[in-house]
Amino acid sequence: MSLTNDYNKVSVLIIGGGPAGLSAAIKLKLLKPDIDVCVIEKAEKCGNHNLSGASLEPQPLFGLLDEAAPGWQKNEQAKQVFANKVEKSDLLFLLGRKLAFHISPIVKLAKLLRLGIGQMIHTGDYSVSVSMLTAYLGQIAAGLGAEILTGFAAEDIILDNNGMTVGVKLVDQGLDKNGNKQPNYVPGEIINTDFVILAEGCDGLVTEKFIEKAQLQRQSPQLFSVGVKQLIKVSPEQYEKFTAGRIVKAMGYPIWTPVIGPAIFGGGIIYPQEPDYLAVGMIAGADWKYYNFNPQDALTLFKEHRFVKKFIEGGTIVEAGAKLIPEGGLFAVPKDPQNGNIGKNNCLVIGDSAGFVNMLKIKGLHNAIDSAISAAKAIADNLSSPKNAADVYTQLINSSNIAAEMASAKKFRQTVAKIGPLFGLPISILSRLLPKFKIEPDYKAMKKAAYRLKPNQDFDKQTFTAMAATAHREDQPSHLSILDTNICAEKCTPTFDSPCITFCPAGVYETIEGRIEPANPSNCLHCKTCQRKCPFDNIRWTAPEGSGGPKYKKM
Ligand SMILES: Cc1cc2nc3c(=O)[nH]c(=O)nc-3n(C[C@H](O)[C@H](O)[C@H](O)COP(=O)(O)OP(=O)(O)OC[C@H]3O[C@@H](n4cnc5c(N)ncnc54)[C@H](O)[C@@H]3O)c2cc1C
Ligand code: SF4
Ligand code: SF4
Repeated sequence: MSLTNDYNKVSVLIIGGGPAGLSAAIKLKLLKPDIDVCVIEKAEKCGNHNLSGASLEPQPLFGLLDEAAPGWQKNEQAKQVFANKVEKSDLLFLLGRKLAFHISPIVKLAKLLRLGIGQMIHTGDYSVSVSMLTAYLGQIAAGLGAEILTGFAAEDIILDNNGMTVGVKLVDQGLDKNGNKQPNYVPGEIINTDFVILAEGCDGLVTEKFIEKAQLQRQSPQLFSVGVKQLIKVSPEQYEKFTAGRIVKAMGYPIWTPVIGPAIFGGGIIYPQEPDYLAVGMIAGADWKYYNFNPQDALTLFKEHRFVKKFIEGGTIVEAGAKLIPEGGLFAVPKDPQNGNIGKNNCLVIGDSAGFVNMLKIKGLHNAIDSAISAAKAIADNLSSPKNAADVYTQLINSSNIAAEMASAKKFRQTVAKIGPLFGLPISILSRLLPKFKIEPDYKAMKKAAYRLKPNQDFDKQTFTAMAATAHREDQPSHLSILDTNICAEKCTPTFDSPCITFCPAGVYETIEGRIEPANPSNCLHCKTCQRKCPFDNIRWTAPEGSGGPKYKKM
């Protein structure tokens, strides 16, 4: 597929059509209807690559919808997206396979005392499918005149000698496995632009290149969690028993059992979606040390827990997928060391690409949308002085709710990473008094330690991948590369038993004739776990041709 219109030059180019990118497009078209705004999205359709919990804090989004689509509450699509208002927010501690303790009263007390962990209560939110939300936002953005180019992936960013971003290069299409041009070869266009907004979500390919080229820095390395999720159709009785207005977050078993271990940050989630569908997920801090740990096994164990099982037993899995969450918080936001800007000149970094996830809430959607609105305002106010956009954007962020809540959570994840969940979680209550711990990237955490819990049944990765409906054109260069296979053979396999084979949720890595290879790249879910969890930092994920990857509809 090639670009049919002339996109040689646009005013604003947004990389990534997720909630952040599309909100930026909507706000820009509201503020400046006459400028051309173009969104590049690698999924075949808006929403296909978006996976989340998601408990959505509605304020920034509803404000945007009021402006962009007055009366939106009556729209059938909106009614479906926002059908589940959260009236009950349960936080549990699971001990072993059977016991569940409600710890919401402690968290409510913490909220009254204005302690950080009080943020874990989510009443007033909406339990949404982020794929459906993204599809809805895509329609609004397109209706306002933004060009949403789905099925195109960006791979590089071009800066001039003055540090101004001048364009973005798209991925070539029509190469065969060996990189030879096929008859349908189309070189990836370079789109020139006055402004770029990087909204690629977590661990963005172009964003990381921009950070390097523009010499932005993080005070602390980004930390990640791996989220795996299944959408399960349950019986009307089970759905009613769970209730449509309740969300459950559960710490403890199977990833954390105080003192006797295991000790992994994170936990399970159960969120209701449309009638008779429950989303069940496991979020595991990627600083796990167990060489044989697979978050999917933990999800299976969570589903087998007595508290969870009653709601889903006998249900049918209708969708499944995996994605990373950026968890490093404020210390991991990439900034210009000269002036603290979250971007440079005319290029702004927003949403998960900037790392605006509040780990006390495990929520980033509201901040992604809020940061998008700020980016749009900064650009709209500086159309004739593009160099100033990053300055203005950063000032808006610094005086926003994003900065305030990110500041309240800024030492939480680092403390847990440094000390572990047993002491890290309680000590993090004192976060303001704590020092800033020096932490290592997640991949360095792996040890020879074994995760010993085993689900009753081996996790079926093939079915999981089929439920994500993931596919890529087979005859294209692999978008996954192992930098040095000698490291696999000489260091990793003898020490850690090639953990990529275990932790990749899609079974992409295999041993073929004694060598570890990304043998099934077309199964890839674009979660990027391998790039961040290979213990020797030996894997690189690049963007495949547009349209490849999962086809989430209700994740
Ligand atoms: C399991 C899980 C549970 C979560 N739970 C919650 C929750 O309960 N509440 C909450 O608020 N948040 C939650 N989050 C976080 C939330 O999903 C994110 O903060 C939010 O989706 C960020 O939006 P975004 O637009 O910045 O990024 P994304 O939603 O990741 O969107 C980025 C888009 O960019 C596209 N893209 C990326 N690279 C390229 C490229 N090179 N070229 C073209 N397109 C590209 C992607 O395909 C994608 O569509 C959760 C996340 C996960 C994974
Ligand atoms: S790619 Fe990474 S995780 Fe896989 S075997 Fe090689 S070094 Fe180990
Ligand atoms: S190959 Fe890497 S990015 Fe793809 S599904 Fe596996 S872990 Fe995720």
